[in-house]
Amino acid sequence: MKKIITSFSRNTASQPTEYEFQKIAIHRKLITSQNELNQFKRIEAGALGEIQFAQVMNDFGLPQWSYLQNIWLKDHATFECDYILVTNHCVYIFEIKNYFGVFEYQNGQCKSRGVDISYNPLNQIHNATVHLKNLLRNYSYNIPVKGVLVFIGEHNKVLIHDDINYIDIISSNEVYAYIQCIIHEERMRQVSINTDYLLKYLEEFEVVNPYTVTPYSPSDITKQHTGLYCKMCAEKLRVTRNLYIECSCGFQEYREHLIVRTACDYGVLTHGTNFVVRDIWHFAGSSPSHDYVKKVLLKHFNIVQNERILTLENYGQPLYNLTNHFSFEKPNRMLITP
Ligand SMILES: [Zn+2]
Repeated sequence: MKKIITSFSRNTASQPTEYEFQKIAIHRKLITSQNELNQFKRIEAGALGEIQFAQVMNDFGLPQWSYLQNIWLKDHATFECDYILVTNHCVYIFEIKNYFGVFEYQNGQCKSRGVDISYNPLNQIHNATVHLKNLLRNYSYNIPVKGVLVFIGEHNKVLIHDDINYIDIISSNEVYAYIQCIIHEERMRQVSINTDYLLKYLEEFEVVNPYTVTPYSPSDITKQHTGLYCKMCAEKLRVTRNLYIECSCGFQEYREHLIVRTACDYGVLTHGTNFVVRDIWHFAGSSPSHDYVKKVLLKHFNIVQNERILTLENYGQPLYNLTNHFSFEKPNRMLITP
């Protein structure tokens, strides 16, 4: 399947998601309160549910399909789309919920683990579907749009008592069968959507996520938040002069990759503000030499013009979202111990 990188995710001024931001902030001990840690658990469950869903779509979807992930669009109001799938015959909008325990819907009221909740995911996906239909109506009257609510949680039981016919509702063990239905329907239908045109059209309505995460200022990041950490197990690394920095877990990260990854993490925490070499050198724990850090950053980051001191562009994203932007001469490797 073809992932569509939208105009905003290409825009280097883009901001990280709340999950990406808080994950790094927690690891760096910038977030420590129990309240925020509990809140992060919910954010993390949501993000992991979306990743899990995207993986199943990737494994079983057809190669000619395209998809957009985590975007905000504007009809007359802004609305969020977890996952938009464009096949040759239909546009699907998926809302993914990673809940735990029993979710119940009766007489228009949602209950989670026996307690009434004011939040209504059925209405949320229904509204998003109506908005998306509105946008696409101006593009073409012939394009069907289908809203789908996915309960991806492994330990989630879903009981829908009301008769719902305006959206599809599926559980995690039904996703595969749902994809097979889409494939079957696509074969039966005569409609043929020009995916590239349609996605370009949709991009015009993309807006920045209105719920911005407030970045840290460089002065918030003090010595206790600095250092180099393993990509695999998050343990603190001992820096050597070797080409590969080895962790006790067996993971060996290409030195340059480690510096760039650390700079990207700093960029996530301070998104919206460009950085200087000293910021990254400090954030990396001041242990690789300043000259080495400078050399690596100059090789991989754009220089911001017309600045009094050497300033580099902050991409505001973790390295794994920027794989098209960076290339490294050597891969990371896992030491296989007998
Ligand atoms: Zn490790």
